[in-house]
Amino acid sequence: MKINGNYANIQQSYLFSTVAAKVKQYSQEHPQADIIKLGIGDVTLPLCSAVCDAMHAAVDEMGVQETFKGYGPEQGYGFLKEALVSYYAGKGVTLMPDEIFISDGAKSDLGNILDLFDRDNTVLVPDPVYPVYVDTNIMDGRRIIFADANESNGFLPMPDKDTDADIIYICSPNNPTGAVYNKQQLKAWVDYALARQALILFDAAYEAFISGDLPTSIYQIEGAQECAIEFCSFSKTAGFTGTRCGYTVVPAGLERGGMKLNKMWLRRQTTKFNGVPYIVQKGAAAVFSPEGQKQIRQNIAYYKNNAQVIARTMRELGIWFTGGENSPYIWLKCPGGMKSWDFFDYLLEKANVVGTPGSGFGKNGECFFRLTAFGDAGRTLEATERIKKLIKNDFRG
Ligand code: PLP
Repeated sequence: MKINGNYANIQQSYLFSTVAAKVKQYSQEHPQADIIKLGIGDVTLPLCSAVCDAMHAAVDEMGVQETFKGYGPEQGYGFLKEALVSYYAGKGVTLMPDEIFISDGAKSDLGNILDLFDRDNTVLVPDPVYPVYVDTNIMDGRRIIFADANESNGFLPMPDKDTDADIIYICSPNNPTGAVYNKQQLKAWVDYALARQALILFDAAYEAFISGDLPTSIYQIEGAQECAIEFCSFSKTAGFTGTRCGYTVVPAGLERGGMKLNKMWLRRQTTKFNGVPYIVQKGAAAVFSPEGQKQIRQNIAYYKNNAQVIARTMRELGIWFTGGENSPYIWLKCPGGMKSWDFFDYLLEKANVVGTPGSGFGKNGECFFRLTAFGDAGRTLEATERIKKLIKNDFRG
């Protein structure tokens, strides 16, 4: 018997456990400290009433013989896929229901999609980035190369014609940097992928935070249906981090190596997955009702207001940052050239504010720091007041 030796190559992730351990130790040593956490990437507002009402009604259906449901379609119920078809139509994107696959979240699909690809492919991943892209490919033993995101490109790396990539990850709005690609920039990636017959894996988990003219789907870019799979989620859009529901779009015309990726993914899902609970899918569909849209938009506006409060503080302090505008993340350059973990300790000890060290997201994250807008509005404001006072005193005095 041989185990998958690639697991030995995955770096242990100490990021959030180290953050938690440091905060715990500090709290034990300073029990009076009023610590504000702007580190987590989880939502805090509850599910909206439109979603809860739909789920309650679905529970009642499940308790009655006539409306009880057992196994559902592995790729999702028609009512939710139709709701998504309309949602995409609103973005100017035409999809067929069979191109949409409902799942228990973007993280699972981002990992599972790799079942479709040979291990011989070279994978291009931005640095810094959501760690799941890297770790899932290491588990399979694929070669990973990095696209450098940094201050000079605004943390939005562009394709380099000399880079030999087969699978390309793009996350926009980005976690952790909050940076968002515009249409022209995404077009350059689509053109690069088409020219190479490469495949883009586009993570749109934060698309609902975009306002204005920026693309919210890769399929708003001409040619993307021939070279991209899109992953999205109800987690950050509608507070489903604990409820679990997401979706993946695999265009019907997308082919590689003479195989239709849509058919392969259907086969993969019907073989290895038994679908998302009916109750959860009913809740997700309610997100697209007029009432649901109004309510989730209010929640997103609440988070975006927090992001604005943090962004304003950074501007006032003259600190370079990305994000905060169309994203729940603010990615800032640590003042005075401080390293990420040094700035973490400094903020924790001097302002009792917790964030996430950028170095935990890749080597280019060193000397950067992530703050999130998912907290309470009053506490976020209080945290920014403390940061302002501290930095003005120590760096701008
Ligand atoms: N993609 C990105 C960029 C994320 O930041 C996250 C969660 O933080 C996910 C995907 C996971 O989404 P889900 O909760 O749907 O698994």
